[in-house]
Amino acid sequence: SDDEGGGEEYLFKVVIIGDSAVGKSNLLSRYARNEFNPHSKATIGVEFQTQSLEIDGKEVKAQIWDTAGQERFRAVTSAYYRGAVGALIVYDISRRTTFDSVGRWLDELKTHSDTTVARMLVGNKCDLETIRDVSVEEGKSLAEEQELFFMETSALDSTNVDKAFEIVIQEIYNNVS
Ligand code: GDP
Ligand code: MG
Repeated sequence: SDDEGGGEEYLFKVVIIGDSAVGKSNLLSRYARNEFNPHSKATIGVEFQTQSLEIDGKEVKAQIWDTAGQERFRAVTSAYYRGAVGALIVYDISRRTTFDSVGRWLDELKTHSDTTVARMLVGNKCDLETIRDVSVEEGKSLAEEQELFFMETSALDSTNVDKAFEIVIQEIYNNVS
C-alpha cells in the first residue's frame, strides 16, 4: 500500500507453544504460506516466519516463532520467549493430555515474559470431531478462567487459522498503541 507519510511501522514477536504434535508448525505454515504437511517431521531450520498486515493504515509485521521440536524434551529456551508480546498456546482437541499441559505452558510463558503478552488458547484439529476428547466448553471455560482469547482451529482444513493469528496481532497492537 502507499506510504501516506505516517512512517510508523510495528514489529511484533509472537510465539507458538504447546505439546509436541498438536499442530504448531502446521498452524504457522497454514497461516504464513497456506501449506499443510500431513507427515509430522521436525521443523527444519526455520526459526520464524514474518507476516505483514495493515492495521489502522499502518504496516504491522508479525514475526511468528515456531519451536524446532525441542518441546519434546521440555527444553524450550528463554531465548525463544525473549521479547514476545503475543502467544498462541496450542492443544489438540483429540488428545486430552495436551489440554492438561496448558497450565504448564502458561506458567512457563509467565516465567519468561516481563511485559503484557496477548494470549490465545487454541484447540487445534477441530476437524477431528469424531475422536474429540476435549469439549468446546472446557476450552472456553479454561480460557475465561485464565483470561485468554479462545478459538478452535484446523490447520488441515484452515478453519479459524487466520482469525486466531489476527486476533492476537490486533490485541498486541491495541496494547502498544
Ligand atoms: P507440532 O509438533 O506441534 O509442530 O505439530 P505438527 O504441526 O508437526 O503436526 C503434528 C501432526 O498433526 C502432523 O501429522 C500434522 O499433519 C497433524 N496435524 C496438524 N494440524 C492438524 C489439524 O488441524 N488437523 C489434523 N487432522 N491433523 C493435524
Ligand atoms: Mg513443530
